Amino acid sequence: MKVVIVGGGAGGISTASNIRKLNKEIEITVITRDDKVAYSPCAIPYVLSGTIKSFDDIVMRTPEDYKNKNIDVIVEAEVTAVDADKKTLTYEKGGKEISMDWDKLVLATGGNPFVPPMQGVDLEGVFRIRNINDGIKVKEAMKEAESAIVTGAGLIGIEIAYALKKQGLKVILSEMLPQIVPRSLDKDMSDILVKYLEQEGIQVVLGKPITKLIGDGKVEKACFGDEEIYDADMVIMATGVRAELELAQMAGCEIGRWAIMVNDRMETSVEDVYALGDCVESKDLILGSNTISQLGTTAVRQSKTLARTICDKKSKFNPVLNSMVSKVGKLEFGAVGYTTSFAQQNRIRPVVQKVEALTRARYYPNAKPMDIKVICDGNGTIIGCQIIAEERVAERIDTMTLAITEGLTCFDLSNMEFAYAPPVSMVTDPLILAVEEVSKKFN
Ligand SMILES: Cc1cc2nc3c(=O)[nH]c(=O)nc-3n(C[C@H](O)[C@H](O)[C@H](O)COP(=O)(O)OP(=O)(O)OC[C@H]3O[C@@H](n4cnc5c(N)ncnc54)[C@H](O)[C@@H]3O)c2cc1C
Repeated sequence: MKVVIVGGGAGGISTASNIRKLNKEIEITVITRDDKVAYSPCAIPYVLSGTIKSFDDIVMRTPEDYKNKNIDVIVEAEVTAVDADKKTLTYEKGGKEISMDWDKLVLATGGNPFVPPMQGVDLEGVFRIRNINDGIKVKEAMKEAESAIVTGAGLIGIEIAYALKKQGLKVILSEMLPQIVPRSLDKDMSDILVKYLEQEGIQVVLGKPITKLIGDGKVEKACFGDEEIYDADMVIMATGVRAELELAQMAGCEIGRWAIMVNDRMETSVEDVYALGDCVESKDLILGSNTISQLGTTAVRQSKTLARTICDKKSKFNPVLNSMVSKVGKLEFGAVGYTTSFAQQNRIRPVVQKVEALTRARYYPNAKPMDIKVICDGNGTIIGCQIIAEERVAERIDTMTLAITEGLTCFDLSNMEFAYAPPVSMVTDPLILAVEEVSKKFN
């Protein structure tokens, strides 16, 4: 059997490796337009900030390494056509057009940065960050730049803004909505982050979209409306990611509201065509509706399911909660499940509590403040959690992911046993404090 995978990012390359772990015979080819595979885009901001020394450090394997696993990786090749009836595809490499047949086709084509249409986005000095080469270009441009505007204050935007600031640039982080990280955090939680970013010297501009970029060949200024104009030697557009759907459309795959429709075995609507990663829709665990989960963790988990599907083994990809965590400077922030406003938009009346706790026992040196917000539905079932602190955020987000996945209520969690020692927690864990407080709202 011959499996051809289009895309050598987290989804594609992990699928190849996972198939190989299950089956030594299947012929596997990965075709990707990039010149590198098996690197972590998630690490790009930390190379830009100088925390990780070089882009070479984030490339974990080369095409040669995959050859040793009997996986053929074709780099700098663009798949331009797919015929799902004839089970063929065409790719272009080095000016040549090459055809290839397949028994099973995997579309791991990821996404492209979404750039709102506006004057000046094609000027020199305006960047999108999707892959390692984008990162390299930004690092190069930073050497000459004194000021930067990062627009779009989701995870990537915030991480990049902090990285540029750390490298000594004057940075504005702009967001058209009235808050940062709008998908994962409530406004009051995001305000804690804004305060920290401002303390670090980043100017945060909220509730104003950039309307145009101005420059003579190279970007010089960004305008917010007609009046507010800021200088910028470089502009980073971190305004979202849109699924890359062209090949899926060519193959006749059903496309949903945002991306390719797949079932829980990662099968598309076309026989023997599969898809995963940033180019597919996932099921939302709480509502059961379709959602988009453009996370490296999701792509890697899906690759395990898909490898089992292709190897004819029992497989199932579970619905997602989009749990996330990030770290800027000394502050970690994470979230899982619904925000208050997302719950309201979906006709859930949220019962919400925010508490302030500590990351260690009150008397233990260097105990840090921890802000936790828990969101329940009208029955007390936990549907969301947001945490900001200088340490120990990720493990608590993971605990809450488990709690939500298991359908636990705040009452269930209040009675749970948590490990404790003064250097690592409070005798009553901050999560317990939060769920005890929200439980009181049901009495
Ligand atoms: C700066 C940054 C930071 C991030 N941080 C995090 C994080 O902290 N945590 C987290 O979970 N996620 C993070 N992510 C998201 C994560 O990187 C993505 O969700 C993940 O890479 C998706 O994997 P993918 O394989 O679906 O897509 P991609 O990694 O985008 O790979 C798609 C590949 O397909 C190729 N391709 C597309 N079309 C064709 C074609 N026609 N022919 C040939 N090749 C093609 C592309 O060139 C690309 O190599 C971050 C992303 C970025 C950019």
